[in-house]
Amino acid sequence: MLKINVARLLKNIETLAQIGHTPDGGVSRPALSEDDKAGRDWFRTRVEEAGLKFQADGAGNLSAILPAADPAARTLLAGSHLDTVPNGGRFDGALGVLAAFEALQTIKEADLSLPYCLEAISFTDEEGTVSGLLGSRALTGELTGEDLEQVRLEPEQFKAGLTRLGLTRAGVLAAQRDPKTLAGYVELHIEQGNRLEEAGLDIGVVTSIVGIRSCWLNFTGQAGHAGTTPMDKRADAMWGAADFITQAREMVTAQFSPGVMNCGQLHLSPGAFNIIPAEVRLALEFRHGSEDQLDAMEQSLLDLAAKVAGEYKLTLSVESAGNCIAAPMDMRLVEAVEQAADQLGLKHTRLLSLAGHDAQSMAAFTPSALFFVPSVDGISHNPREFTRDEDMVNGGNVLLHTLLTLAAGER
Ligand SMILES: [Zn+2]
Repeated sequence: MLKINVARLLKNIETLAQIGHTPDGGVSRPALSEDDKAGRDWFRTRVEEAGLKFQADGAGNLSAILPAADPAARTLLAGSHLDTVPNGGRFDGALGVLAAFEALQTIKEADLSLPYCLEAISFTDEEGTVSGLLGSRALTGELTGEDLEQVRLEPEQFKAGLTRLGLTRAGVLAAQRDPKTLAGYVELHIEQGNRLEEAGLDIGVVTSIVGIRSCWLNFTGQAGHAGTTPMDKRADAMWGAADFITQAREMVTAQFSPGVMNCGQLHLSPGAFNIIPAEVRLALEFRHGSEDQLDAMEQSLLDLAAKVAGEYKLTLSVESAGNCIAAPMDMRLVEAVEQAADQLGLKHTRLLSLAGHDAQSMAAFTPSALFFVPSVDGISHNPREFTRDEDMVNGGNVLLHTLLTLAAGER
C-alpha cells in the first residue's frame, strides 16, 4: 500500500516551524508579514525542488501542481494555510498544506497517472490578520471590493503588506476560478479540540462546518431603589437575563447537542450598586451544523427569552448581529475520507467543525471535505499546540488515499 514519506513530511513541518518561531516554541507568521513572506518563499523553493509546478494567483494563494496526462482534466485541490495567528502554534494550517504537498510528491514518485490534475494549495490569510479566509474567498469569488475596504489592518499597513507579497487589490479581486475546472477540495487540519483524543480516535471526518448566528437580546424592566422596592414589585432586567442564560444552557445541552451557545457580553444600565437594573443588553451567539438546526435553535432560544421576559415583567427586543451560514461537506468526499481511513486501519468518527476553515468558503463552490487529526489536550492558537508525529503521518496517509480513492472513482 502506497504511503507518504514520513521523514520528509516531519522534516518539512519542523523546518517551516523555524520561520517566524517564537522563544516559547510557537510561531508567528501573520498574513502579509515579513515572516509570512519568508514562509512563502521557503514553500516555493520546496515545490520547485520537488519538480512540481509552482503557481501563485492574484490573491497570493500558492500552489504545487502535479498535472494530469489529459490537459483538459479537472483539478482536485488539497490544502490549508501557511499563515498563523500571532504567537500561534506550528501545526494549525501548516500540516494541511505540507501533507497535501507530501501526497503530491508521493504520487509523482510512484509514477501514478491520475484522471485529475492535483494541486496542493496554501490559502492567504485564513486566520484573519487581514480579513479572514481571504484567499479562499477570493478563489471562490465571494470576496468583494467592500471587504478589502474593511480590513483589520491600517490602510498603510495593508498597502505595505500587499506590496511585500507582490499583490494588488485588483489582483486579489481577480483571483476567482471557474468551478467547472475543479473536481473538489480536501483539507486536513488539526482538531483544535480534544474530542478525538478523549475518544481514543485517529481521524475525525467533518460533516459540516457550523454556521454561527449572533444577536443582541435587550431585556427592559424598570429602574428603582435597590433598598426600598419590595422584591416582589421589581422588574429587574438582570434577573430575567440571568434566568434566560441558565435555562438556555440547559435547553441547548438537552435538545441541540452538538450545537453550542454562548452569552459573551452583558451591559447593564443604569449600572450601580443601589439601582435595580432597568436594562440588560446580552450578546447571544449560537452554532450548529445546518441552517435547519440553526433555525430551530433560534426559534427555541427566542421563545425562551420571550417567556422569561414575561415572567419577570420585562419587555424584550432582539437585534440581529451577524450570520455566518453553515457549510455542509460533500457526502461523497466524506465517504472517500472514511474509506481511506478504513484502508489504513484507522479509527474514525464523524463530527462537526466548531471553528472556521478554508473548507467553509470552498464548500459552496466545489465538493469539499475536511478531516481532523488529534490535538494534544485540544490546545490551539497557542505555542503549546501539539500534534504527535504519528497522527500527522496518519493524516498525511489518509489525505493521500482520499485523493487516490476519488481518482479511482473518476475512472
Ligand atoms: Zn487553521
